[in-house]
Amino acid sequence: MLSSPAIIDIHCHTAGIGAGASGCFVSSAMRRNVRFPFFLKTFGVSERELQQHGDSLILERLSLRLSESQHVSSAVVLAMDGVVNAHGDLDEAATEIYIPNYFLGRECRNYSNLLFGASINPHRLDALERLDKAAEDGAVLLKWLPSVQGINPADVRLKQFYRRLQELKLPLLTHTGGEESFTRVDNSLADPIRLQCALDEGVTVIAAHCASNGLNAGQKNMDRLLPLFKVYPNLYTDISSLTQVNRLGHLPKVLRHVDIHDRLLYGSDMPIINSFLTSPWWHAYRIPFPAARRIASIKNPWDRNIALKLALGVTEEVLSNSWKMFAGATPAPFDLCSANGAPAGQQIFGEVY
Ligand SMILES: [Zn+2]
Repeated sequence: MLSSPAIIDIHCHTAGIGAGASGCFVSSAMRRNVRFPFFLKTFGVSERELQQHGDSLILERLSLRLSESQHVSSAVVLAMDGVVNAHGDLDEAATEIYIPNYFLGRECRNYSNLLFGASINPHRLDALERLDKAAEDGAVLLKWLPSVQGINPADVRLKQFYRRLQELKLPLLTHTGGEESFTRVDNSLADPIRLQCALDEGVTVIAAHCASNGLNAGQKNMDRLLPLFKVYPNLYTDISSLTQVNRLGHLPKVLRHVDIHDRLLYGSDMPIINSFLTSPWWHAYRIPFPAARRIASIKNPWDRNIALKLALGVTEEVLSNSWKMFAGATPAPFDLCSANGAPAGQQIFGEVY
């Protein structure tokens, strides 16, 4: 049993097919892909249920399951912006999964344990306005998947966007390392070295998955990320997906770097933690058989994930870091502003950094 009061999961996905006028969509190529029914199953919904009740059903189920967790108190649920064309508009034909901010921001406010993680492709013509709107609507961070959204984080044209992010004190959670969940990717864009431009502008950057797989310039992505921690105190990383079968051994490798333990943030990568891909049995070569059996018997996916990460050496201190960064970040109604007029999401980070 953990002594820490609560843990915040900073990396939780949702999905949507457009049911209930959510504005979400999944491309026809992705819908035909084996991953589509797999993802719905791991979310604990069927396509028919979504058609009947709307895409918000996934959030309702996420919130309910989360409320049953003994250890994880709340989760940042992530929107997903799409690819943008040369005119700065959404390119629907090139976008595989789309979860708009207006839908997710509104839905998260219905649940006290779901926090809003916005997503904005910075190449949108109105990217800065969208950023301000997301902050007003209670976003606690901004999420990018550069290799899929066609964003080069090192593009100097993004400086203004980074400055605004920094002013709003919104952390940038951005995927690093190889990506395997989409049919079209450019993994060179997920090279951690490309994050220096945002870091130089003072943005709090959270490198998702600790760049734990793939190569760039012939070097392991993680080895390209680690030296940056010494240079940038505003660099963090999350430990989501590190227990997946295709990343065996990556979590202990990260944990050996004790000097960055205070920069590691808990993330689950829900719904993957609710699948065989993160079974404790894949780690049976590292943890004793009775422990693997005990962990496998835990019903709640977040509690199972926490138990597995503890068994693999994650400390309570590491698990408490996300709470320190996001404590007080409760979903705020549109008009709920602090005394100085700043949206609630901004004030929180003002205290931390
Ligand atoms: Zn993810």
